Amino acid sequence: MLIQHGSVVLPTGVKENCDIRIQDNKIADIGKLSPKDEPIVNANGFYVCPGFVDIHTHGGGGGDFMDAEQNSFEQALSFHSRYGTTALLATSVTAPPEQIVDMLSLVRQYQKVKNPQCRVLGAHIEGPYLSLKNKGAQHERFLRIPARDSYDFILKNKDVVKTVTIAPELDGAITMTKALREVGIVVCGGHDDGYKDIILPVIEAGLTHCTHLWCAMSTVAMRNGVRSVGLCELGLVDDRLTVEIIADNHHITPEMVKLIYKCKGAEQMCIVSDSLRAGGMPSDESLYILGSKSDCDAQKFIVADGAARLPDRSRLAGSIQPLSQMVKNLVFDAGIDLYEAVAMASLTPAKIIGADHQLGSIQEGKLADICILDKNLQVKAVMVNGVFIRKEL
Ligand SMILES: [Zn+2]
Repeated sequence: MLIQHGSVVLPTGVKENCDIRIQDNKIADIGKLSPKDEPIVNANGFYVCPGFVDIHTHGGGGGDFMDAEQNSFEQALSFHSRYGTTALLATSVTAPPEQIVDMLSLVRQYQKVKNPQCRVLGAHIEGPYLSLKNKGAQHERFLRIPARDSYDFILKNKDVVKTVTIAPELDGAITMTKALREVGIVVCGGHDDGYKDIILPVIEAGLTHCTHLWCAMSTVAMRNGVRSVGLCELGLVDDRLTVEIIADNHHITPEMVKLIYKCKGAEQMCIVSDSLRAGGMPSDESLYILGSKSDCDAQKFIVADGAARLPDRSRLAGSIQPLSQMVKNLVFDAGIDLYEAVAMASLTPAKIIGADHQLGSIQEGKLADICILDKNLQVKAVMVNGVFIRKEL
């Protein structure tokens, strides 16, 4: 197949009037190409981007990955892929380990799907090793401490688990970080109540990424009469750390995006949806369950005014936007160049989880995961593994 005359969004800039040849499930050629005997798609007037890679999402379209049900997975995957996300990490919430393991079993099945509507690259374990103070919308009763509560269930599922978020100040965080790193899992800091002196040794032990910077995260404060920075400031200035942001204009405002961008640049910051099961659902004050719907006393949240909040509206519970909406927010509200906003939604997150050899950019030899946007940055077509799953060109 030949996608012709598109404005192709590369990690270094936009290449105008450029063609892409898709052969089997890969990007075979890029440039000015003469058609062979093959189907042709005219992308004149459209941006041809790599498919987006969402390394932190709980679900969407009514389904939460923690439901650990095929139907919920399908709902979430079809919501994300419809809006241009072609690969993701299914993300857990704080819950008993058995519940998380149930989810991981289903993730393992989805990892093996040959022609997916959206690739499930693995799982992000967010919780239960989080701080009580900054647990956010997570369930307090199931929080764990690495030195006291085993994390064997994570190590045993290392074929599925790609990233784990922990609070670096917890007892045993250094040992846990080393153990996870040793089996190839990316260790992320977040939902924490740490400060510089406690966090630095964990970074030295192998923590490399900050989970939703500025949200449920330690920050600058006076402690016993001494000013100390938290994970947020370390994330901004320490080049060993990459950061992710929930760029929905609710969790992070455009001014915050600009500040983070000035510190990190597009290569060290990515955007994540952190979307809940309410992703893509109407903003009509409906009440939803955070995490597994089989958990009868699960945390609930309400969706109104374009955001998901706890029922008392005291804090945000996660986003309801897919990555493509966040790319628009970056470009139109924070003034980021399109190619860099796209890189933050594709190549950078793929690099963070070590998937960039196959995914994340339009490059010869990579898998043919493509998202086509119109000039208003609305998703018009989505290709996964060389097959259009949405096409309105
Ligand atoms: Zn989350």
